[in-house]
Amino acid sequence: MWKNVLIWGLPLLVLSLIGWQELANQMPVATSRMTYGRLLEYMQMGWVKRIDVYERTALVEASSPETGWQWIRVDLPVNSSDWLEQAKSLHIDVDVHAASNWINWASNWIIPLVIIVGLIWLLSRSASSNTAGALNFGKSKARFQMVAKTGIMFDDVAGIEEAKEELAEVVAFLKNPTKFLAVGASIPKGVLLVGPPGTGKTLLAKAIAGEASVPFFSISGSEFVEMFVGVGASRVRDLFKKAKQNAPCLVFIDEIDAVGRQRGAGIGGGNDEREQTLNQLLTEMDGFEGNTGVIVIAATNRVDVLDAALLRPGRFDRQIVVSMPDVKSRLAILKVHAKKKKIHPQVSLEAVARRTAGFAGADLANLLNEAAILAVRRNFKQITWKEVDDAIDRVIAGMEGTPMMDGKIKRLIAYHETGHALTATLLPNHPPVQKVTLIPRRQAKGLTWFTQENDRDLISKSQLMSMMMVALGGRAAEEAVFGSAEVTTGASNDLQQVTNLARQMVTRFGMSSLGPLCLETGNEEVFLGRDMRLMPEVSEEVIAQIDAQVRGMIEACYEKVLELMQANRVVMDLLVEELMEKETLDGKEFRQLVAQAVMIRD
Ligand code: ADP
Ligand code: MG
Ligand code: ZN
Repeated sequence: MWKNVLIWGLPLLVLSLIGWQELANQMPVATSRMTYGRLLEYMQMGWVKRIDVYERTALVEASSPETGWQWIRVDLPVNSSDWLEQAKSLHIDVDVHAASNWINWASNWIIPLVIIVGLIWLLSRSASSNTAGALNFGKSKARFQMVAKTGIMFDDVAGIEEAKEELAEVVAFLKNPTKFLAVGASIPKGVLLVGPPGTGKTLLAKAIAGEASVPFFSISGSEFVEMFVGVGASRVRDLFKKAKQNAPCLVFIDEIDAVGRQRGAGIGGGNDEREQTLNQLLTEMDGFEGNTGVIVIAATNRVDVLDAALLRPGRFDRQIVVSMPDVKSRLAILKVHAKKKKIHPQVSLEAVARRTAGFAGADLANLLNEAAILAVRRNFKQITWKEVDDAIDRVIAGMEGTPMMDGKIKRLIAYHETGHALTATLLPNHPPVQKVTLIPRRQAKGLTWFTQENDRDLISKSQLMSMMMVALGGRAAEEAVFGSAEVTTGASNDLQQVTNLARQMVTRFGMSSLGPLCLETGNEEVFLGRDMRLMPEVSEEVIAQIDAQVRGMIEACYEKVLELMQANRVVMDLLVEELMEKETLDGKEFRQLVAQAVMIRD
């Protein structure tokens, strides 16, 4: 670094000093130099046209027979003004530029000063990050608090009561270790918090620290892993050394999957560093003699990739699952966050909880914040239902765009959305339409929303079939109205959803004629279908059968919806007219219109 500073800094300093002086005085650039004596000669010869004087330097515009026209630079003597007299008598133009005061001052002081300060800053920075840093590589970067002031207590964490209860034990131990040790109880050394992102794992760890009021070390898994080999391991060693000195205490390792991945699974075997770090971590956790009162809490959302050795009893022997909140938990979380916000008493948090299936705690916190921002933008003193509702829409589907101009495309989208909504309304076992809208959000040019009555964790086959039919309703409406040649790419998302659903019905839920078999495993989250893997024993033949089943199911559903759309063409036309005009129809309006139209048709 020092070398760098010298190599770059000094020339820069010199250059800029010269450069700025020139610039500040705004001199024309001289192409050559001559002595004062030559200047006098030149004047005598009548070759000088003009003299510009900048303090003690003159720029002379001259054209001699040998050199031609030139700007020439001349240093003027301090105590002589012969040249001036001569110039006067020869009628040569003389112009004196007094360099303006502040520019002069600036060029003399400020700029060098800035550069010097800059250099000092550079030096000090390089000193702290390199010179001293070199000695500190292996020092743990953990943020350490002697008395944890996270400001978060158990009351701030809502909706994950079981996890809280389990951790309350840990807190009880930390507060009074001797009591437990006296009975011979051994408290787990490690607690692993497992759950999807945003469910409050980090928050929970902070709450434990707040409650237990013991020293608290917190570090993120990724901070162990650096570009220098061996650093991670020594960081771990250092962290545990410090922790033992401060026992009883808590060590919190967030996102432990960054270090704790399955060893030997790295592609190309370039993961030695991470393995060393992990080995060190395992050693340290084994190494507590008896119980030194260091409790390690780690959090991850990828327990599936963790090394088996980490999960063995004696290390993270306790796993606490922090799951996605259900309606009741969502309500509890909303209540916690609503405390800090001004919310109109008419806003029903129950209703918000019902509408937010699939939201994690972080999403809910974010939702209320968005609503608050909206309320401010609308100049309200309190958050009303409208803001909350709009914020939910925004969190789910993105910002509202500007509506389309009336035209063929808008009409087609109106039919598409009406197709979804009408199918849902006509089928008996599908959640009701909440609203249909032609106002675009993200890539969606129109949207149909359905009310989520409650989290249904058990869904019947006929309900799933209805979901597939509703998802296909958009495409079916397009085809029924505009013909099979005019259908658009707008249905691609719907088709993806339908295919996913059908596939899972065949491979996971045993709802096809292949029978009640599990043929695929992977991601727990129903319907997302990410990371799905076929079971190893599934043969080529069965794969072909799965495909055939999926295809058959989707085709059957599509045929039914297409029929439904064709039979309800008149109803659809009427709904589309209304939707084109109003751009958004809420569920009640929509159902009334359907009822009216059906009466007219019959
Ligand atoms: P994770 O670590 O599980 O990914 P965080 O603990 O970082 O999630 O949660 C992020 C934010 O979401 C928290 O700061 C908090 O505001 C909110 N949050 C998440 N879960 C809860 C919960 N159960 N109760 C209250 N707030 C929560
Ligand atoms: Mg976290
Ligand atoms: Zn659609």
